[in-house]
Order: sequence, then structure tokens, then C-alpha cells
Amino acid sequence: MSTFQDLGLNDDLLQAITDLGFTKPSEVQEKAIPILLESETDLVALAQTGTGKTAAFGFPMLEKIDVASRTTQGLILSPTRELCLQITNEMKLYGKYCKGLNVVAVYGGSSIQDQAREIKRGAQIIVATPGRMKDMIKRRLVDISKIQYSVLDEADEMLNMGFKEDITDILSHTPVDKSTWLFSATMPREVATIAKKFMNNPQEITVGTKNESTSNVSHEYYLVNARDRYQALKRLSDANPDIFSVIFCRTKRDTQKVAENLIEDGYSAGALHGDLSQNQRDLVMKSFRNQQIQILVATDVAARGIDVDDITHVINYQLPDEPEVYTHRSGRTGRAGKTGISMVIVSKSEVRKIKSIERIINKKFEKKDIPDGADICEVQLMSLANKIHNTEINHEIDKHLSSINELFADTDKDELIKKFFSVEFTRFYNYYNKSKNLNVAEGSYDRDSRREGGRDFSRGSKNDSTRYFINVGGKDGFDWMKLKDFLKEQMNLGRDDVFKVETKDSFSFFNTENELKEKVLAHFTDFKHEGRFVNVEVSENRGGGRRNDRRSGSSGKRRDDRRSGGRRDDRKESSGNRGDRRRSDSGSKPRRSDSSDFGSSRPRRSRR
Ligand code: AMP
Repeated sequence: MSTFQDLGLNDDLLQAITDLGFTKPSEVQEKAIPILLESETDLVALAQTGTGKTAAFGFPMLEKIDVASRTTQGLILSPTRELCLQITNEMKLYGKYCKGLNVVAVYGGSSIQDQAREIKRGAQIIVATPGRMKDMIKRRLVDISKIQYSVLDEADEMLNMGFKEDITDILSHTPVDKSTWLFSATMPREVATIAKKFMNNPQEITVGTKNESTSNVSHEYYLVNARDRYQALKRLSDANPDIFSVIFCRTKRDTQKVAENLIEDGYSAGALHGDLSQNQRDLVMKSFRNQQIQILVATDVAARGIDVDDITHVINYQLPDEPEVYTHRSGRTGRAGKTGISMVIVSKSEVRKIKSIERIINKKFEKKDIPDGADICEVQLMSLANKIHNTEINHEIDKHLSSINELFADTDKDELIKKFFSVEFTRFYNYYNKSKNLNVAEGSYDRDSRREGGRDFSRGSKNDSTRYFINVGGKDGFDWMKLKDFLKEQMNLGRDDVFKVETKDSFSFFNTENELKEKVLAHFTDFKHEGRFVNVEVSENRGGGRRNDRRSGSSGKRRDDRRSGGRRDDRKESSGNRGDRRRSDSGSKPRRSDSSDFGSSRPRRSRR
């Protein structure tokens, strides 16, 4: 094991390293720094976040640039604003004794003119997000024609986020003979293509195994019905009273909804996604860092660059579309030598994805059961007991002790303990008493796989659902997701109550369970939306998916008259338009009401 001195760094950097308290180089630093110091070479480094890779490229870049010059010599591209700022801060700390050093962050959501002004003052190193950088180049606010070192940090993530074109464009403004250092947690084909295209005979280093997730993270999955996903999430949180976690959802909307529902249910949670203002995101991140919130619900994009060391659990509320993204998610925990758990809540239709992830991370998942109510109550009770046992006594109580003793004169110790614990425990007990089992056995018939994304069309052939025709469609601004939301909101239905939604130009179809038929038809009797009659009728094809999806019933005739003219002939449901069903019902609200999970009162969690 070498020291920072052995790596050949100069005294200014060594002094900063001492100030930072870094005692020895991390693996990626040990491997990358000598290569980058010794030669002008391109480099591909496979390393996870949290391995110290900023310093691995940062120290050599700081050592090599000329701080006496005001020319921009180094460009670091990173996927998100958070990461961009984090790298900038680290670079400033590493270069604090490099007199004259100016590192400037360039990212969206902040004044472009201010950033341009800072660069004009002479920025030797620019740390940028690709979108804003491209914009600055276009407006001629920055000159990168003389850079000698470019870093593509988290290259896989930048490509995941669709920055390929921007990166290509930016690099076309840089000299061909510069050195390019690419850092990536995974090596999907796109990253290899970029490396081939922009790099010249790069040296390669790998920290850990390629694409392997951090070794101190264990991976678990929980198989539930899709409609029980939110309940499962709550149980996993309740079964881990000291959880400090990031929950990943696929869409901004789901992220917001899950966070809102958790907050409403008394959890200490916050949302982090791209629809929030920068200010809101900063506030959430600050609360999370300070552990004022215990559960951060985030999208993949927004969570990039979260640099918080103590995350105990990552919960995949939904799996990512790309299995590689799972590595980034699980890498949020198990940092800084700590252990972590990455949990996945899956429905039957997704379980096969676990296998592909296992291949990528080179590790096995453990299938576990969602804890039942009794387990959770026990965990909560023991957690409370431990908290009380470890609580420091507040001696302000001393002066009231005699009155309290008087009150409990006839109560023995056991009884007193029971009473004391009941204050907190009864809420949990009432909530979880007689709770149902949420686990689904592997290989069993999955009712909900039909609902998610609609890949399984078996439901259509069963007689338990009703297919409806509705006289609104694409022309009225509805796609299948918007229509599904509209129907759910109108009739106050749950996440899975409306399914097989298919929109055409001027009309659409959807299904509900048979028992909702009366409610649906009653709701849409004489129903007006934005000044026009919206008409719902039963379609003859109960399941959907056939070409001749016709309406039936006498009520249909009456409503027919109100339908906007000229649309009757195109009321066929083309079987070729199932693409939408393959997508997940990502905009859906998780079931908040716990109708099947007993009890109306929910336990409210105390804040940390
Ligand atoms: P990074 O992977 O660059 O995001 O680094 C993760 C964290 O590790 C940052 O907070 C760094 O300041 C810290 N770090 C980087 N190198 C070392 C080192 N050699 N020893 C201790 N901490 C380090």
C-alpha cells in the first residue's frame, strides 16, 4: 500500500491532503494517479461513486495545469448540478494551496452571465453539466479550444441521461491532442463506444470487478402484488425503525406521490426530483444530510451525486428500466466502509429482471418476506425499549417525581412498564393487528401482473372486468396515462381500479372490475367536462384488444346522441396499438387507503 507521497504529488497537494485528513490513497487513486502524472495518456477508469475518484483525476489535473496562466486548461463534465458542485468544491479543497487557482462550476438553473463572468476572470478548470456547457459554447461565453485535460465523470450516467449529443458537440470544440479521462461505474456498450470514438489508446483501470456493486451491500427482494407496493414500503420502513434511506421511483410523479403519502402517513420523508425548483431541492438535500428527514424519495436523475455516507437502506420502489441503473442506486448505501442493504419491491411481472441484475452486479439477491404485523410490532417495541434504556435522564423531572410516585403508588413495576410502553406501542399494534400477508409465492398466479403495464392480456378473457367506451381521446389532449388519471380522479378510484386504457384519436377504451360498472356508468350519466358531454358506455369486448370493440346496451343509444358528430365510424380498437400497455402505469398514485390492510388509524412515526 503506497502513501500519497509515493504517488508523486507535489507539496501543495500533500499539504491539502493532510488538512483533509486523508491518510492513504484509495484504490482508484493508487491506480490512476501515477498513470496520469507520469504520462499524457487517455484513461478509462471503472469505479463506483464514493471510491475517491474525484481526487483520482483531480490531483493529477491540479498538478499538471499552469495556475499562473488564465487559460482554461481542464474541463470536467458531470451529469448533474449536484455532482458538478460537489466536484467543484472538492477541487477547490484539493487545490487550496495552488495559488491563483480558479475552478468554476457551470450548470443549469443559475445565471449563465454570472458563470460567464467568473470564467472571464480566468478559470483554469471548468466543471460543467453538458447542457449548460453546450449552451455557453453556442453563445461564445467560454473558450475550450486550448484545454489539455478533459474528464467525463460518471460517463454511464451522462449517457443514460441522454447527453451523448451534447458531449459529442462539446468535445468537438476541444483540441484533438488533449488527454481524456473517462470515469464510469459501469461499462455498457454506449460508454465503450464513446471511449472508442474520443479516446486514443486509453489505459484501463478497474476498481473492484467490472459492473460489480459494492461488496458491503447486500441485496434483497420482496415479491408482492403491485397494488400492495406502498403497504410493503411502509412495512419495510416500520420494520427498520432507524432506517435512513433513499427510495427510488421511476418517474417524478411517482416520486412526488410516494413522498406525499409517506408524509401524510406520518413518516419523516421528502421528495427529490427534477420538477422541484433548485431551492426546494437544496432544502430537501440539506434536511436529508442533517438527518432531519429519514426517507428521501428520489428519481434516478435527481439522486445522482448524493454524497451522504450513512444511508442504511436503498429501497427500489420500482425497478429501473435499465438494469445497469440498479448499480448506481445500490451504490448510495454501503459507503465509507459501512454496510448497507438494497431492497427491491417487485411484482411477479418484474421478477425476471432480478436475474439480469444479478448477472450485472455479480451477486445473488436474497428473496425475503415482507414482515408481518406481529414482527413489526415486536421490532418497534424492542426499539422503543432500547431507546428508553439509552435515554439520558432529564433531571428537570426530579422535582415532579414525588407527585408521579404518588400517582403510581399502587402500580407494580411490570404494570408500570406495560402502561408506559402502551403509550407508544398501542398505535402500532392497532395498525398492524390482523394485518394481511403481503407476500406472493413465486410461481403463483399473479392477479396484478395483468395490471402493470398490461403485458398479460389474460384479464380480457375473463369475465371479471368490464370494458368501456369513452368519447374522448387524443384530440382532447388525453394519452393513456392522462386518461387513466382523469378517470381515477373523477370517480375517486384507486391505483389499479382502471386498467387497459387505450386512447384513439377521438375516443378511448378502458376496463374496470365488474363491481365498479354501476359506479362508472352512474358517474358519467349527464357528465360534462370543460363544457362538453363526456359519455361512457359498455363496450361489447370485455377484455379489449379486439378490432371490433363495440358499445352495447340501451344507455349507449341515449348517450350516442350527445357525442360530437362524425366520430362514430372510427370506434374500433386496433389490436396493433398495445405499445402503451407495455409501459408501466407510472403516473399512478400508490394506494394510500389501507382498506385491505385493516384499521383506519395509521401509526405516526416520531421524527428523528
Ligand atoms: P468521490 O468518490 O470522489 O465522490 O469521494 C468520496 C468521498 O471520499 C469524498 O467525500 C472525498 O472527500 C473522500 N475521499 C477521497 N479520497 C479519500 C482518501 N484517500 N481518504 C479518505 N477520504 C477520501
